[in-house]
Amino acid sequence: MASADGVYNYSAVLMGSPIQLRLFEHNEALAGAVFRLIKQYENRFTVNREPSEVMAVNRAAGQHPVAVSPPVYQLIRCAKAASLLPGSAFNLAIGPLVKRWKIGFHGDAVPPADEIRQLLTLTRPERVILDDAASTVFLADAGMEIDLGAIAKGYIADRVRDYLRREGVTAGLINLGGNVHTLGAPDGGWTVGLKKPFAGRDALIGTLTVADKSVVTSGIYERYFEQDGHCYHHILDPRSGYPLDNELLSVTIISRDSLDGDIWTTLLYGMGVTAGCAALRQREDIEAIFVTRHHEVICSSRRQFQFTLLDDQYRITDNIA
Ligand code: FAD
Ligand code: MG
Repeated sequence: MASADGVYNYSAVLMGSPIQLRLFEHNEALAGAVFRLIKQYENRFTVNREPSEVMAVNRAAGQHPVAVSPPVYQLIRCAKAASLLPGSAFNLAIGPLVKRWKIGFHGDAVPPADEIRQLLTLTRPERVILDDAASTVFLADAGMEIDLGAIAKGYIADRVRDYLRREGVTAGLINLGGNVHTLGAPDGGWTVGLKKPFAGRDALIGTLTVADKSVVTSGIYERYFEQDGHCYHHILDPRSGYPLDNELLSVTIISRDSLDGDIWTTLLYGMGVTAGCAALRQREDIEAIFVTRHHEVICSSRRQFQFTLLDDQYRITDNIA
């Protein structure tokens, strides 16, 4: 059924997230093919159940290299490179800590400090050994685990965009729950909401208008638990093993590719606003919107999108660096 603006909405639940596809034609076959494509990638990348290619790599930690398919190899290679950037908050080998904290899953609680210290020794990205010729991945230490939760949705969103383009779709939107990818510019652009942290499901701080862009948001309010009055969220600091603790409630990246968006939300979470804006001066293609605990909405720049503020408890600041 088309909505008043002529858009057809299709939905599914995949990767533990609500997935939404928006098209300007009634095409259930195409929607079905998109959801199957996402499912195929989920089956390769997941660490939430057996079997998957990433689970096979994790199971063989400390024992032997595992040959993986080109998409899995490509994504692990890219995630390792992001993890080895100087001072990076991104770490593909964060798996043992993610599994121990269980944030967003049943049984989440603060682990004892000595356990966290011990698990940190199993999260060294340089111990993820890659062999380009053989397309193998070897986790050098027993107990190591790769977790692609911060990056796989971005990779998959890009593949869905490529698929829709190949199928001749000129205007459409895919939302993988935090990763939105847009094709074309119907009526001057797509409107994407910037969620209001710790508010109702549909509450927005404002909206972005974009065309042919990815919009990725990572927030501390999506998956978290509270213990002794403290909020523990799912973006972990690979240096301390605890959730990243700074002024940020969310980071949104506007970029051509969703993979970049996914990597940069985590990198910028680690840098904070000032260092993050400075880093983005080297990357004209990537723009960020930071939402802080002080109710500020800070845009690194606004070349690729327009922003409309809807909530008067928040105020906009630009180019603070
Ligand atoms: P992001 O900020 O992009 O990523 C946060 C996630 O990345 C964390 O949840 C953790 O997995 C990982 N991470 C934490 N700290 C770091 C760090 N410093 N560096 C790198 N990575 C870090 N959820 C379910 O509830 N059930 C499922 O069955 C399920 N299956 C999934 C299958 C796949 C293939 C994927 C990609 C996700 C799945 N998820 C599932 C969701 C997953 O558990 C994460 O919640 C989700 O990927 C977080 O994405 P985000 O964009 O919200 O947050
Ligand atoms: Mg991410």
